Amino acid sequence: MQEQFLADKAFEPFLAKLIAAGPVVGPVGKRSQFVFAPLRSPAEARLDYDVTILPPKKLFFPPAQDLVRFDGDKVEGCIEPVAMVVFGVHPYDVKALDMTDLLFKERNEDRNYLAHREAATLVAMTPQKASSRAFWGSIGTGVEPKGHDALLTKVPGGWIYEARTPKGTALLKHGDFASATKEQSSAARKAGLDAGRKCSANLKHPAAAVAHRMKTVFKDEKLWNGLAEDCFSCGSCNTVCPTCYCFDVQDRWNLDQKSGTRTRYWDACLAEDFSKVTLGANASENFRETKGERFRHRFMRKASYLNEKLGGPACVGCGRCSAACTADIADPVRVIDTIMGRPS
Ligand code: SF4
Ligand code: SF4
Repeated sequence: MQEQFLADKAFEPFLAKLIAAGPVVGPVGKRSQFVFAPLRSPAEARLDYDVTILPPKKLFFPPAQDLVRFDGDKVEGCIEPVAMVVFGVHPYDVKALDMTDLLFKERNEDRNYLAHREAATLVAMTPQKASSRAFWGSIGTGVEPKGHDALLTKVPGGWIYEARTPKGTALLKHGDFASATKEQSSAARKAGLDAGRKCSANLKHPAAAVAHRMKTVFKDEKLWNGLAEDCFSCGSCNTVCPTCYCFDVQDRWNLDQKSGTRTRYWDACLAEDFSKVTLGANASENFRETKGERFRHRFMRKASYLNEKLGGPACVGCGRCSAACTADIADPVRVIDTIMGRPS
Protein backbone atom coordinates (compact mmCIF):
# COMPACT_ATOMS: atom_id res chain seq x y z
CA MET A 1 0.00 0.00 0.00
CA GLN A 2 1.08 3.59 -0.70
CA GLU A 3 2.80 5.10 2.34
CA GLN A 4 0.93 7.87 4.12
CA PHE A 5 2.24 11.08 5.65
CA LEU A 6 0.93 12.62 8.88
CA ALA A 7 2.13 16.13 9.71
CA ASP A 8 3.52 16.75 13.22
CA LYS A 9 0.54 18.95 14.10
CA ALA A 10 -1.89 16.16 13.13
CA PHE A 11 -0.15 13.49 15.18
CA GLU A 12 -1.64 14.27 18.58
CA PRO A 13 -5.22 14.41 17.27
CA PHE A 14 -4.62 11.03 15.54
CA LEU A 15 -3.42 9.41 18.75
CA ALA A 16 -6.24 11.08 20.74
CA LYS A 17 -8.82 9.56 18.36
CA LEU A 18 -7.20 6.13 18.60
CA ILE A 19 -7.33 6.34 22.40
CA ALA A 20 -10.97 7.44 22.29
CA ALA A 21 -11.84 4.51 20.00
CA GLY A 22 -10.51 1.81 22.31
CA PRO A 23 -7.65 0.72 24.51
CA VAL A 24 -4.24 1.80 23.24
CA VAL A 25 -1.11 0.55 24.95
CA GLY A 26 2.13 2.42 24.32
CA PRO A 27 5.48 3.33 25.83
CA VAL A 28 5.23 5.64 28.87
CA GLY A 29 7.86 6.91 31.30
CA LYS A 30 8.30 5.18 34.66
CA ARG A 31 10.83 7.08 36.75
CA SER A 32 13.99 6.98 34.62
CA GLN A 33 12.78 4.03 32.53
CA PHE A 34 9.92 3.08 30.22
CA VAL A 35 7.08 0.55 30.27
CA PHE A 36 4.24 -0.43 27.95
CA ALA A 37 1.04 0.76 29.64
CA PRO A 38 -2.48 1.88 28.65
CA LEU A 39 -2.35 5.42 27.25
CA ARG A 40 -4.82 7.85 28.81
CA SER A 41 -3.75 10.79 26.61
CA PRO A 42 -1.33 11.38 23.71
CA ALA A 43 0.91 13.41 26.03
CA GLU A 44 1.74 10.25 27.99
CA ALA A 45 3.27 8.49 24.98
CA ARG A 46 7.06 8.54 25.04
CA LEU A 47 7.85 7.71 21.44
CA ASP A 48 11.47 8.69 22.07
CA TYR A 49 11.95 5.70 24.41
CA ASP A 50 15.05 3.55 24.10
CA VAL A 51 13.75 0.26 25.53
CA THR A 52 10.98 -0.77 27.93
CA ILE A 53 11.61 -2.72 31.15
CA LEU A 54 9.46 -5.62 29.98
CA PRO A 55 8.74 -6.41 26.33
CA PRO A 56 5.23 -6.17 24.80
CA LYS A 57 5.08 -9.99 25.11
CA LYS A 58 3.59 -9.33 28.57
CA LEU A 59 0.35 -8.11 26.91
CA PHE A 60 -0.33 -11.49 25.26
CA PHE A 61 1.49 -13.81 27.65
CA PRO A 62 1.34 -12.00 31.00
CA PRO A 63 3.48 -12.98 34.03
CA ALA A 64 0.40 -14.77 35.46
CA GLN A 65 -2.32 -15.98 33.06
CA ASP A 66 -5.39 -18.02 33.98
CA LEU A 67 -5.83 -20.97 31.62
CA VAL A 68 -8.96 -22.71 32.93
CA ARG A 69 -11.46 -22.39 35.76
CA PHE A 70 -12.84 -25.57 37.30
CA ASP A 71 -15.68 -26.40 39.64
CA GLY A 72 -16.04 -30.11 40.34
CA ASP A 73 -16.36 -31.77 36.93
CA LYS A 74 -17.07 -28.46 35.17
CA VAL A 75 -14.10 -26.90 33.36
CA GLU A 76 -14.16 -23.70 31.30
CA GLY A 77 -11.38 -21.97 29.38
CA CYS A 78 -10.24 -18.46 30.31
CA ILE A 79 -9.61 -17.11 26.85
CA GLU A 80 -10.79 -13.52 27.09
CA PRO A 81 -8.81 -11.48 24.56
CA VAL A 82 -8.99 -7.69 24.59
CA ALA A 83 -8.96 -5.90 21.21
CA MET A 84 -6.31 -3.23 21.66
CA VAL A 85 -3.85 -1.18 19.65
CA VAL A 86 -0.25 -1.67 20.74
CA PHE A 87 1.49 1.48 19.65
CA GLY A 88 5.17 2.26 19.12
CA VAL A 89 6.69 -1.25 19.25
CA HIS A 90 10.32 -1.31 18.13
CA PRO A 91 11.15 -3.78 15.33
CA TYR A 92 13.36 -5.98 17.57
CA ASP A 93 10.31 -6.56 19.80
CA VAL A 94 8.19 -7.32 16.71
CA LYS A 95 10.78 -9.94 15.73
CA ALA A 96 10.58 -11.42 19.23
CA LEU A 97 6.77 -11.62 18.91
CA ASP A 98 7.19 -13.30 15.50
CA MET A 99 9.27 -15.99 17.24
CA THR A 100 6.76 -16.39 20.05
CA ASP A 101 3.89 -16.58 17.52
CA LEU A 102 5.67 -19.40 15.70
CA LEU A 103 6.56 -21.32 18.86
CA PHE A 104 3.05 -21.00 20.33
CA LYS A 105 1.50 -22.09 17.01
CA GLU A 106 3.51 -25.26 16.47
CA ARG A 107 2.04 -28.62 17.40
CA ASN A 108 -0.85 -27.88 19.83
CA GLU A 109 -1.82 -24.25 19.26
CA ASP A 110 -1.68 -22.18 22.44
CA ARG A 111 -5.01 -20.35 22.18
CA ASN A 112 -4.47 -18.49 25.46
CA TYR A 113 -1.59 -16.67 23.78
CA LEU A 114 -2.78 -16.60 20.17
CA ALA A 115 -6.26 -15.24 20.89
CA HIS A 116 -4.75 -12.19 22.62
CA ARG A 117 -2.22 -11.75 19.84
CA GLU A 118 -4.87 -11.95 17.08
CA ALA A 119 -7.11 -9.41 18.84
CA ALA A 120 -4.36 -6.80 18.88
CA THR A 121 -3.33 -4.30 16.21
CA LEU A 122 0.42 -3.82 16.34
CA VAL A 123 1.79 -0.45 15.23
CA ALA A 124 5.57 -0.75 15.04
CA MET A 125 7.83 2.28 15.13
CA THR A 126 11.36 2.88 13.84
CA PRO A 127 13.46 3.48 16.99
CA GLN A 128 14.60 7.02 17.63
CA LYS A 129 17.04 5.91 20.36
CA ALA A 130 18.85 2.75 21.42
CA SER A 131 19.62 1.75 25.00
CA SER A 132 23.29 1.58 25.98
CA ARG A 133 23.09 -2.27 26.16
CA ALA A 134 21.24 -2.79 22.87
CA PHE A 135 22.84 -4.55 19.91
CA TRP A 136 19.82 -5.11 17.67
CA GLY A 137 21.63 -3.44 14.78
CA SER A 138 24.00 -6.40 14.47
CA ILE A 139 22.03 -9.54 15.35
CA GLY A 140 19.61 -11.48 13.16
CA THR A 141 20.11 -8.93 10.41
CA GLY A 142 18.80 -11.40 7.82
CA VAL A 143 15.47 -11.76 9.67
CA GLU A 144 12.85 -9.12 8.87
CA PRO A 145 10.13 -8.24 11.41
CA LYS A 146 6.77 -9.31 9.99
CA GLY A 147 4.07 -9.53 12.66
CA HIS A 148 3.13 -5.84 12.74
CA ASP A 149 0.09 -4.26 11.12
CA ALA A 150 1.70 -0.89 10.41
CA LEU A 151 5.06 0.86 10.71
CA LEU A 152 5.50 4.45 11.81
CA THR A 153 8.69 6.37 11.11
CA LYS A 154 9.58 9.91 12.17
CA VAL A 155 10.70 12.08 9.26
CA PRO A 156 11.23 15.86 9.04
CA GLY A 157 7.90 17.62 9.58
CA GLY A 158 5.86 14.52 10.44
CA TRP A 159 5.52 10.75 10.32
CA ILE A 160 5.36 8.11 7.61
CA TYR A 161 2.71 5.46 8.20
CA GLU A 162 3.02 2.24 6.26
CA ALA A 163 -0.03 -0.01 6.63
CA ARG A 164 0.83 -3.68 6.13
CA THR A 165 -2.47 -5.41 6.89
CA PRO A 166 -6.21 -4.55 6.80
CA LYS A 167 -6.00 -3.90 10.58
CA GLY A 168 -3.24 -1.37 9.96
CA THR A 169 -5.23 0.25 7.13
CA ALA A 170 -8.31 0.51 9.39
CA LEU A 171 -6.49 2.94 11.68
CA LEU A 172 -6.02 5.47 8.88
CA LYS A 173 -9.58 6.76 9.35
CA HIS A 174 -8.53 8.28 12.68
CA GLY A 175 -5.93 10.63 11.21
CA ASP A 176 -5.55 13.39 8.65
CA PHE A 177 -3.23 11.41 6.37
CA ALA A 178 -2.03 12.33 2.88
CA SER A 179 -0.13 10.22 0.36
CA ALA A 180 3.58 10.46 1.08
CA THR A 181 5.82 12.11 -1.48
CA LYS A 182 8.86 10.28 -2.90
CA GLU A 183 11.13 12.44 -0.73
CA GLN A 184 9.15 11.64 2.43
CA SER A 185 9.19 7.90 1.67
CA SER A 186 12.92 7.90 1.04
CA ALA A 187 13.48 9.88 4.28
CA ALA A 188 11.63 7.07 6.11
CA ARG A 189 13.75 4.40 4.43
CA LYS A 190 16.92 6.28 5.41
CA ALA A 191 15.69 6.62 9.02
CA GLY A 192 15.12 2.84 9.04
CA LEU A 193 18.64 2.15 7.81
CA ASP A 194 20.19 4.71 10.19
CA ALA A 195 18.34 3.22 13.19
CA GLY A 196 20.54 0.11 13.19
CA ARG A 197 23.60 2.30 13.63
CA LYS A 198 22.27 3.80 16.89
CA CYS A 199 23.42 0.78 18.93
CA SER A 200 26.78 1.27 20.57
CA ALA A 201 27.23 -2.47 21.19
CA ASN A 202 27.65 -4.80 18.24
CA LEU A 203 28.09 -8.50 17.62
CA LYS A 204 31.13 -9.00 15.43
CA HIS A 205 30.42 -12.58 14.36
CA PRO A 206 27.73 -13.91 12.00
CA ALA A 207 24.94 -15.96 13.62
CA ALA A 208 25.82 -19.18 11.76
CA ALA A 209 29.44 -19.05 12.97
CA VAL A 210 28.28 -18.38 16.56
CA ALA A 211 25.74 -21.24 16.42
CA HIS A 212 28.44 -23.64 15.23
CA ARG A 213 31.01 -22.51 17.81
CA MET A 214 28.51 -22.82 20.66
CA LYS A 215 28.15 -26.53 19.91
CA THR A 216 31.90 -27.08 19.99
CA VAL A 217 32.24 -25.58 23.50
CA PHE A 218 29.22 -27.39 24.96
CA LYS A 219 31.34 -29.75 27.06
CA ASP A 220 33.78 -27.09 28.27
CA GLU A 221 32.69 -27.07 31.92
CA LYS A 222 35.50 -24.75 32.95
CA LEU A 223 34.26 -22.12 30.47
CA TRP A 224 30.61 -22.30 31.55
CA ASN A 225 31.36 -22.45 35.27
CA GLY A 226 33.64 -19.45 34.85
CA LEU A 227 31.04 -17.45 32.92
CA ALA A 228 28.38 -18.26 35.56
CA GLU A 229 30.60 -17.91 38.63
CA ASP A 230 28.87 -14.74 39.92
CA CYS A 231 25.34 -15.80 38.92
CA PHE A 232 22.68 -15.45 41.67
CA SER A 233 20.26 -17.80 39.83
CA CYS A 234 17.70 -15.00 40.16
CA GLY A 235 16.23 -15.51 36.67
CA SER A 236 16.01 -11.77 35.92
CA CYS A 237 17.70 -12.28 32.54
CA ASN A 238 14.88 -14.69 31.61
CA THR A 239 12.11 -12.55 33.05
CA VAL A 240 12.89 -9.48 30.94
CA CYS A 241 13.67 -11.37 27.72
CA PRO A 242 11.19 -10.93 24.85
CA THR A 243 12.00 -14.37 23.43
CA CYS A 244 11.82 -16.43 26.65
CA TYR A 245 8.53 -18.30 26.82
CA CYS A 246 8.83 -20.99 29.50
CA PHE A 247 6.09 -21.21 32.08
CA ASP A 248 5.04 -23.18 35.12
CA VAL A 249 1.41 -24.28 35.63
CA GLN A 250 -0.18 -24.30 39.07
CA ASP A 251 -3.70 -25.06 40.33
CA ARG A 252 -5.12 -22.66 42.92
CA TRP A 253 -7.93 -24.22 44.91
CA ASN A 254 -10.69 -22.23 46.52
CA LEU A 255 -11.68 -22.83 50.16
CA ASP A 256 -14.50 -25.14 49.03
CA GLN A 257 -11.79 -27.54 47.82
CA LYS A 258 -13.71 -28.26 44.66
CA SER A 259 -13.35 -25.15 42.53
CA GLY A 260 -10.33 -23.13 41.50
CA THR A 261 -8.17 -21.84 38.67
CA ARG A 262 -5.31 -23.31 36.67
CA THR A 263 -2.81 -20.51 36.09
CA ARG A 264 0.49 -20.31 34.30
CA TYR A 265 3.37 -18.20 35.55
CA TRP A 266 6.56 -17.15 33.79
CA ASP A 267 9.39 -19.48 34.68
CA ALA A 268 13.15 -19.01 34.35
CA CYS A 269 15.68 -21.63 33.28
CA LEU A 270 18.39 -19.85 35.29
CA ALA A 271 16.48 -20.44 38.54
CA GLU A 272 17.72 -23.43 40.53
CA ASP A 273 14.39 -25.29 40.69
CA PHE A 274 13.53 -24.96 37.00
CA SER A 275 14.92 -28.36 36.08
CA LYS A 276 14.01 -30.16 39.28
CA VAL A 277 11.70 -33.14 38.80
CA THR A 278 10.13 -35.38 41.38
CA LEU A 279 11.22 -38.95 41.86
CA GLY A 280 8.37 -39.72 44.23
CA ALA A 281 8.07 -39.23 47.99
CA ASN A 282 10.86 -37.02 49.37
CA ALA A 283 13.06 -37.57 46.32
CA SER A 284 13.95 -35.33 43.38
CA GLU A 285 16.45 -34.94 40.59
CA ASN A 286 17.80 -31.68 39.17
CA PHE A 287 19.10 -32.30 35.68
CA ARG A 288 20.76 -28.84 35.45
CA GLU A 289 22.11 -28.67 38.95
CA THR A 290 25.01 -26.23 38.55
CA LYS A 291 24.95 -22.53 37.67
CA GLY A 292 27.25 -23.29 34.72
CA GLU A 293 24.82 -25.84 33.27
CA ARG A 294 21.91 -23.42 33.56
CA PHE A 295 23.87 -20.50 32.11
CA ARG A 296 25.00 -22.73 29.21
CA HIS A 297 21.44 -23.86 28.55
CA ARG A 298 20.23 -20.28 28.20
CA PHE A 299 22.97 -19.33 25.76
CA MET A 300 22.59 -22.52 23.75
CA ARG A 301 18.86 -21.74 23.39
CA LYS A 302 19.52 -18.14 22.34
CA ALA A 303 22.40 -18.69 19.95
CA SER A 304 22.21 -22.24 18.67
CA TYR A 305 19.37 -24.70 19.37
CA LEU A 306 16.50 -22.70 17.82
CA ASN A 307 18.37 -21.11 14.91
CA GLU A 308 17.17 -23.57 12.30
CA LYS A 309 13.52 -23.31 13.34
CA LEU A 310 13.56 -19.50 13.59
CA GLY A 311 15.86 -18.75 10.65
CA GLY A 312 18.25 -16.91 12.97
CA PRO A 313 19.20 -16.61 16.64
CA ALA A 314 16.55 -16.62 19.38
CA CYS A 315 17.90 -13.29 20.57
CA VAL A 316 16.87 -9.94 19.12
CA GLY A 317 19.57 -7.83 20.77
CA CYS A 318 17.31 -5.72 23.01
CA GLY A 319 19.93 -5.72 25.79
CA ARG A 320 17.32 -6.12 28.55
CA CYS A 321 19.06 -9.17 30.08
CA SER A 322 22.32 -7.33 30.21
CA ALA A 323 20.74 -4.32 31.97
CA ALA A 324 18.73 -6.47 34.40
CA CYS A 325 21.62 -8.63 35.62
CA THR A 326 22.84 -7.51 39.06
CA ALA A 327 26.05 -9.48 38.62
CA ASP A 328 26.54 -7.96 35.15
CA ILE A 329 27.39 -11.29 33.53
CA ALA A 330 24.39 -11.76 31.20
CA ASP A 331 25.41 -9.50 28.30
CA PRO A 332 25.18 -11.74 25.19
CA VAL A 333 27.75 -9.64 23.31
CA ARG A 334 30.35 -10.17 26.02
CA VAL A 335 29.56 -13.87 26.43
CA ILE A 336 29.63 -14.55 22.69
CA ASP A 337 32.84 -12.53 22.23
CA THR A 338 34.46 -14.59 25.01
CA ILE A 339 33.38 -17.85 23.37
CA MET A 340 34.37 -16.77 19.87
CA GLY A 341 37.75 -15.56 21.13
CA ARG A 342 38.73 -18.88 22.69
CA PRO A 343 41.20 -21.05 20.85
CA SER A 344 39.44 -23.98 19.15
S1 SF4 B 1 18.84 -12.71 25.29
FE1 SF4 B 1 18.98 -10.64 26.16
S2 SF4 B 1 19.43 -9.31 24.41
FE2 SF4 B 1 18.70 -11.27 23.59
S3 SF4 B 1 16.49 -10.97 23.29
FE3 SF4 B 1 16.75 -11.87 25.34
S4 SF4 B 1 16.87 -10.10 26.74
FE4 SF4 B 1 17.17 -9.32 24.66
S1 SF4 C 1 20.24 -12.06 35.74
FE1 SF4 C 1 22.44 -12.50 36.00
S2 SF4 C 1 22.57 -13.22 38.10
FE2 SF4 C 1 20.39 -13.37 37.56
S3 SF4 C 1 20.16 -15.47 36.74
FE3 SF4 C 1 20.61 -14.14 34.98
S4 SF4 C 1 22.85 -14.31 34.73
FE4 SF4 C 1 22.38 -15.04 36.80
